[in-house]
Amino acid sequence: MKTDIEKIISLCKRRGIVFPSSEIYGGFASCYDFGPLGVELKNNIKRAWRDEMTKFHENIVGLDAGILMSPKIWKASGHLTAGFADELVECKKCHKRFKKDELKSQKCPECNGELTKSRKFNLMLKTFVGSVESEATATYLRPETCQGIYVNFLNVLNSARMKIPFGVAQVGKAFRNEITTKNFIFRLLEFEQMEMQWFCESKTSDKWFKYWKNERLKWYYDLGIEKENLRIIEVPEKERAHYAKKQIDIEYKFPFGWKEIEGVHNRGDYDLSNHMKHSGEDLRYYDEQSKKKYIPHIIETSAGVERILLAFLCEAYTEIKGGRTKTTKAKKEEEIVLKLNRRLAPVKAAILPLVKNKPELTKKAKQVYELLKPHFACQYDELGSIGRRYRRQDEIGTPLCLTIDFESLENNDLTIRFRDTMKQERVKIDELTETVRNKLV
Ligand code: ATP
Repeated sequence: MKTDIEKIISLCKRRGIVFPSSEIYGGFASCYDFGPLGVELKNNIKRAWRDEMTKFHENIVGLDAGILMSPKIWKASGHLTAGFADELVECKKCHKRFKKDELKSQKCPECNGELTKSRKFNLMLKTFVGSVESEATATYLRPETCQGIYVNFLNVLNSARMKIPFGVAQVGKAFRNEITTKNFIFRLLEFEQMEMQWFCESKTSDKWFKYWKNERLKWYYDLGIEKENLRIIEVPEKERAHYAKKQIDIEYKFPFGWKEIEGVHNRGDYDLSNHMKHSGEDLRYYDEQSKKKYIPHIIETSAGVERILLAFLCEAYTEIKGGRTKTTKAKKEEEIVLKLNRRLAPVKAAILPLVKNKPELTKKAKQVYELLKPHFACQYDELGSIGRRYRRQDEIGTPLCLTIDFESLENNDLTIRFRDTMKQERVKIDELTETVRNKLV
C-alpha cells in the first residue's frame, strides 16, 4: 500500500477535512467532526451516490425518514434481540469492554486485570423521549437507516405509484455503540449510511442481487478506485447479518488491511413479513398481471459515507518525494497531490493572481472569481508565492488552478494549470465558464 494512515490523518487535520471530536476537552472516542473541506467532500460523495441511484435509475425514489422511530420497529426488525450484538468481555478491575474475537490473551490489555466471561452487548444507543426516564419512554437511535424505508413501504408505493421492481434510496445518520476505536474514521459511533432497498419478486432476487453487486462496483471504479484495491467477499452463513439470506461485502485495501466499505444483502422477505406480523398491516404487493398478492423480496445496497470517504482519500493520496516543481527550494520538500476524481474534489477551481501586491491583477482575479462562483465550487487565494499556492491546492485535490498574470490584463485571458499533469494552457476569459465546465467532465 502506498501510504500509512497517520499521513492521511495529518492531512485531514491540517487542511480542515476531519477533526477529532471535542478536542479541547481531550477528545471523545470514535467520534469525529468534518471541517470545511470535509463537508464538501462528504456532500460530493452523497451527491454522486444519489445521482447514481435516483437520476440514472428512473424506478428508484428518495426518502428521508427520521432517526427516532417507534421502539416497536426495533423489536420487529430483530435488533432488540441477540441478532444485533457484539460478543464482549469486561475487565473486572478497570471495567473496560473488549471484543472477544479481537483479544490476544485472557487478561485485560489495558490493566492486565481478570476478564469476565463473554456476553452479548446490544449495539443500539438508547435514549428517552418525553420528560420521564423509564422503560416505557425508551427508544433507540437508529442503527441502520433502512427500517425507515420498510415502514414507509406502503406510503411510497401508493404516493409515487411505483410498480415492482422498484427501489427507495436514503442517506442519513445511523448510530452504533461500537467498542473498537482504532483506524481513524473507519468505525464510528455516529455515521452516515447510503442505503438503497430494491423491492422485487422472490424468483428474480438472485438476478437483481448480481445486478446490484456489479452496479455498485462500477460506481467505485467510475469515481477513481483502482480495480486491484477492491474485492468482493462472499459472507458465509454463520457470519451473515441476522436478516441476510445472502451477503457480499465490498472491501477496500486500506493501509490497515482489507476492510468492508459496503454490503449487498439479499434480505428475502424477512423485513416486510416481520413488520406485517408486528404492525398488523398488510404489506403485501398486489400484482395486477397475476391478480395475486405477495410479500416483495428485498435486495439492499448499504454503504457508509465516512468509510468510503476514507477509501477515496487513501486512493487519492499521492506523495512525491523531492517535489515535482522546478524551483530548488520546493525540490527539497516532499509534495502531496490528492488525486481525487473531479466530481468529488471539494474545490473545483482556484483563482490565483500571480502576485498579491498588484491591484490590477487582484481586481481582475476577483472578477474571474465572481464570474465562476455561481457555477463551480471556487476558492480565491492571493496569500504566499504562486508555487506554494499551487501546492496548497494540490494537497486538497483541486483539479484546476486559474492564474491571472500581466498578460491577462492585455489579452483578457489566463492560464489553466492541471493538478495531475501540471500542464498549463492559455484560455480566453470570455469563454471561461464553458471551458472550465468542459475541463471538469
Ligand atoms: P462491520 O462488520 O465493519 O461492523 P457491518 O457488517 O456491521 O460492518 P452493515 O451493517 O452491513 O455493516 O452496514 C453497512 C455499511 O455501513 C458498512 O459497510 C459500513 O460502510 C457502514 N458502517 C457500519 N457500521 C459502521 C460504523 N460503526 N462506522 C462507520 N461506518 C459503519
